[in-house]
Amino acid sequence: MIVRARTVVTMDGPPIDNGAVVVREDQILDVGKFDEIRTHNAGQIVDLGEQALLPGLINAHCHLDYTCLRDKISPQKSFADWIRAINAQKAKLSTQDYVSSIREGFAEAKRFGTTGIVNLTAFPDLVPQIDAPIRTWWFAELIDVRAPERANEIVDHALESLEPTPNWGLAPHALFTASAELYRHCEEVAQQNNVPLTTHLAESREEMDMFHDASGPLYEFLKSIGRPMDDCGNETPLEHFLTVRDSSAALRSARNDNDWLVAHLNELTESDFELLEGSKTRFHVVHSPRSHDYFKHSQFPLERLRSLAFNICLGTDSLASNKNLSLFAEMRAFQKEFPGVSPEEILKMVTVNPATALRQQDMIGRIRPGFCADLIAVPCGGERDSPFEQIVEFDGSIDWVMVNGKM
Ligand SMILES: [Zn+2]
Repeated sequence: MIVRARTVVTMDGPPIDNGAVVVREDQILDVGKFDEIRTHNAGQIVDLGEQALLPGLINAHCHLDYTCLRDKISPQKSFADWIRAINAQKAKLSTQDYVSSIREGFAEAKRFGTTGIVNLTAFPDLVPQIDAPIRTWWFAELIDVRAPERANEIVDHALESLEPTPNWGLAPHALFTASAELYRHCEEVAQQNNVPLTTHLAESREEMDMFHDASGPLYEFLKSIGRPMDDCGNETPLEHFLTVRDSSAALRSARNDNDWLVAHLNELTESDFELLEGSKTRFHVVHSPRSHDYFKHSQFPLERLRSLAFNICLGTDSLASNKNLSLFAEMRAFQKEFPGVSPEEILKMVTVNPATALRQQDMIGRIRPGFCADLIAVPCGGERDSPFEQIVEFDGSIDWVMVNGKM
């Protein structure tokens, strides 16, 4: 099949005017000027007209479990109050509610042109029941705050459901809900299976207060539910993340921080930046602009992380703190927050960058021969704005989506 469009935005060189992409089965076979492509390729021609054809978008952080919680939780006074509020909502949900929620989330993400997704699920048991319509990395979100003695058992149980799926990883939830032992066991299992890891880190001021000063609403809340708090009062969350996993020399030498996709990182101190400057640690970072607004977190330190060569991706987070699963809306919120960043750089944060974070930089995120045929089309015309500007401005649902060569 030859797919022709006014512009092909490959993310692999400048956009190609009057371009075309050749797709055979699930792969991209060729890309270039339509006039040249048609001379040496046969097949049905699909003309998308006045549109930009681009790689499908990749959401680097979301929780489809909570699609059904859209508009259910208004912003709260504290992060701890928000955790209480989501726990109260979750108590009302059945297994079937979660299955429906995940399915609706997939359908919505696809309508917004997302063809790849990092989905953290608190219910890995449900994974075999769900036929994901887009390329999905299932991460089991693991919490042992109420049963730290069961850390290894919790990880091993999740593995039984995850291992049959093609793309999976592990997500110890956060330093305040997952024990050091849980983090360590996740790293061991990830190394053995060569899978990625993700976690929430340094998201809120309350998390900083908890680990650095042993105080604040999150500290008090977790203490009240019986979490051992002896790891609080010494370190920043980042320091704690880097040291908590260091007790085993074998792990330390085998560890590769590039395996981590770290969500948030809003709360970094000067000493944290010094630590990062002096270390080789360069994990991948996910920023969720609209969820960040909802929580009124501290400013995301984009420029400092970029100057240290961190790979920055965008994600929607869940609908318990966001309005929808559109990465276009996420790109626009990011642009408002950081008007100095070019639309092309912003588009990389939902294509090339998350592909790298998932170690799929040779498979997805670009239009290049040999890559997976994950493509979308966005209206694009006139001479006024560049294709990148028009893509970031696009506000609607996507009519033409191809995932793995299928429309
Ligand atoms: Zn999250």
